Amino acid sequence: MGGESACLVCRARSFQPRYQRFGPLAQCNGCGFVTADVEFADADVRRLYDQRYFSGGEYDDYLRDRPAIQRNLTQRLENVLEYKRGGFLVEIGCAYGFFLELARPHFRVLGYDVADHAVEYCGTSSASRRRRSTFWRTKR
Ligand SMILES: [Zn+2]
Repeated sequence: MGGESACLVCRARSFQPRYQRFGPLAQCNGCGFVTADVEFADADVRRLYDQRYFSGGEYDDYLRDRPAIQRNLTQRLENVLEYKRGGFLVEIGCAYGFFLELARPHFRVLGYDVADHAVEYCGTSSASRRRRSTFWRTKR
């Protein structure tokens, strides 16, 4: 891992390359946690997931595609429910909260996303709690 990076789990600063055939991955020498060996500035991540990502970029119209997206997410939720029912579910990168909406009858839910507009949408939909945050620095 480059520079000043600390393990997200144990804060150790010693890593070794791991599973390189899958990409730039590194394993913490302190706890074994495997993470991507990449670094992005917050501004880069926010730019990547701006409104264009969801409308005209990666997705033609994310909100319009909601029924199809939620059909796919329903299968994913059923997979989760095979292992866990009840408790607290946190989704990192919740976008517009479509998965949280489906999960809410089964879990207390919380979503994080860097896209302000998506988080705002969650606030107007039925996803009960959400936060705007990068994955590595939580703003409360
Ligand atoms: Zn660690």
